[in-house]
Amino acid sequence: MTEEKFDAIVVGAGPAGSAAAYTMAKAGLSVVLIERGEYPGAKNVMGGVMYGRMLADLIPTFAAEAPIERVIMEERLWITTDDSAVILGHKTAAPHGEVPNAFTVLRAKFDRWFASKAEQAGAFLIPATVVEDLIMRDGKVGGVRTGRPDGDLYADAVVLCDGVHSFLAKKAGLQTREIAPHEVALAVKEIITLPPDLIQERFNVGEGEGVTIELYGAVTQEMGGYGFIYTNRDSLSVGVGALISHFMRTKVTPNELLERLKQHPLVQPLLAGGQVAEYLAHAIPEGGYRAMPRLYGHGVLIAGDAAMMVNGLHREGSNLAMTAGRLAGETVVEAKGRNDFSATSLASYRRRLEESFVLKDLKKYQHLPEFVDRHPELLRIYPGLVNLAIHEMLTVDGMPKRDKQRKIWKAVTARRPLWRLITDAYRAWKVIR
Ligand SMILES: Cc1cc2nc3c(=O)[nH]c(=O)nc-3n(C[C@H](O)[C@H](O)[C@H](O)COP(=O)(O)OP(=O)(O)OC[C@H]3O[C@@H](n4cnc5c(N)ncnc54)[C@H](O)[C@@H]3O)c2cc1C
Repeated sequence: MTEEKFDAIVVGAGPAGSAAAYTMAKAGLSVVLIERGEYPGAKNVMGGVMYGRMLADLIPTFAAEAPIERVIMEERLWITTDDSAVILGHKTAAPHGEVPNAFTVLRAKFDRWFASKAEQAGAFLIPATVVEDLIMRDGKVGGVRTGRPDGDLYADAVVLCDGVHSFLAKKAGLQTREIAPHEVALAVKEIITLPPDLIQERFNVGEGEGVTIELYGAVTQEMGGYGFIYTNRDSLSVGVGALISHFMRTKVTPNELLERLKQHPLVQPLLAGGQVAEYLAHAIPEGGYRAMPRLYGHGVLIAGDAAMMVNGLHREGSNLAMTAGRLAGETVVEAKGRNDFSATSLASYRRRLEESFVLKDLKKYQHLPEFVDRHPELLRIYPGLVNLAIHEMLTVDGMPKRDKQRKIWKAVTARRPLWRLITDAYRAWKVIR
């Protein structure tokens, strides 16, 4: 019996995998997309904000057909104490440009749609199938072993898009060390249903329009992470996440953190009357540039969460995954033209990533994960100080403003001496400059 061999196998039908499969199938390659979930998205979790530009790079007409929940018109940042928040944000009356900048999705619907686009382009989707191992041939990755009977599949190139904690990255020899607890966050989220009209009224937006709220400070109990509330069509995505190293240190459970967020006096009114429809938990790779595996080898490439491509500071992951998936796909298409799938041939994948925002941004913030892990106290101190200062300034009590400034400065330096304020500012600037 002759074995069936494909040009490429993609493992995982998340944003990275479907982007890679779509790109290669559209270029005429024979592509198999293998997904362990019953259908793409069945098991996938995210807060829910996706970015239009990277999706439009693949499917320019996506806005008319993708299952978008709400287009984001306002992004709010809450710096919380236990009973107050300093609120920053940006609101637009009309989304700029041809494609929406950001929009919310529910992954169970979105991933299914995105994988169907790869199928329409010619990729062969195999759902409900776990890739259990890689098949090595002549010193290169030459296929995958699935959990199905007669489940070996062969290809010139295998693109690993199997998400966080990719054991296949280890099998391929791309990841050679254990991931540390400060390099991964654990996030929990609830989908809380509310009537669309009520969402629009509470968040002050029109039909189809949405709001994001990110909450820092007291809500994470001095852990590196943040809470979020995102509006969907008829539900809210409400969640919180923090570094695993910090959960280990504080012994707070993720569920306790979520309950505390929901009980915050400023959050409660936004959720009132809602019904919890789903509870979800998922890990987020937060190690960044310094924790990335090798990105390619003989016959193999890796993209998305499997390669630690998350920019936690900017709440970006899906866009890095889609872009990396597309670039991995383009690299394999080029390699097919040369009929050379060696590591040397696939090395242009890294160059493409370096030229894109993906590696540029991850490199820029390469010291941030360690900084957040080492200085969780800053996430309590500074939200407290900012709230104290603004609260004092806004309290109209007859005290002259210059006296108020002195009072604020005295209160701030009593909690954090001047030399610490300066070193904190310098350190923070160094990791995000
Ligand atoms: C709570 C939370 C909130 C987030 N919020 C945001 C946000 O608002 N915006 C944003 O841009 N990003 C966000 N992210 C990050 C974002 O979800 C990820 O960066 C993105 O999903 C990565 O895509 P991916 O395709 O690399 O991986 P995934 O989406 O994890 O997809 C991996 C796929 O591989 C499949 N798979 C795994 N192993 C196998 C196997 N052995 N065989 C077959 N299939 C397999 C999985 O079932 C899955 O479908 C959030 C993440 C979490 C957890």
